[in-house]
Amino acid sequence: MRTYCPTCAAQIEHRVPSGDDRPRDICSACGEIFYDNPRNVVGTIVERNGAILMCRRAIDPRRGFWTLPAGFLELGESGFSGAARETREEANAEVDQGELFAMIDITHIGQIHIFYRATLVSDYWAPGPESEISCFIDEQDIAWSQLAFPSIHRTLTHYFNDRRRGYFEPHIETLERDSWQTLGLDRDPTPNRHARC
Ligand SMILES: [Zn+2]
Repeated sequence: MRTYCPTCAAQIEHRVPSGDDRPRDICSACGEIFYDNPRNVVGTIVERNGAILMCRRAIDPRRGFWTLPAGFLELGESGFSGAARETREEANAEVDQGELFAMIDITHIGQIHIFYRATLVSDYWAPGPESEISCFIDEQDIAWSQLAFPSIHRTLTHYFNDRRRGYFEPHIETLERDSWQTLGLDRDPTPNRHARC
């Protein structure tokens, strides 16, 4: 919630505008209404020789835990171009041929996480500044409790299930607040850094 109007610096009020159905931040002086909407996180799932490109986070939140390359979509980007950029930033890997694979609503934090299957363009990858490690990990070597976020757990689970049955299709689902617990993610602030490639 805002305190002061970014346009005219007057006090912000929190009330339901006429004709609307929920409270908004409204400037008490210039009347501007500020809408807060869910944010999109976009990422990739990239396979090479049967293993999946993953990164161990070098930044908070969830520093030291494992993720697929992913981050917030920027203005002006398509979903997949944002996912490819995040893959470049976090794993120095170039990808193309994005196919929508998972769309995960996380309404209690106001986010939608979207993952694309993508193809590695060149045989190069290396950790970017936000990653301690980036590497390809086989299914049996994934430290599931050391995954950074529930959406990563669900996307990988869908991926390996689809791969086993022989075809991929998009998965749409909702994650609840208790998914951290039901999926068994380690919430210890000090992750198990023995989990590696
Ligand atoms: Zn104002």
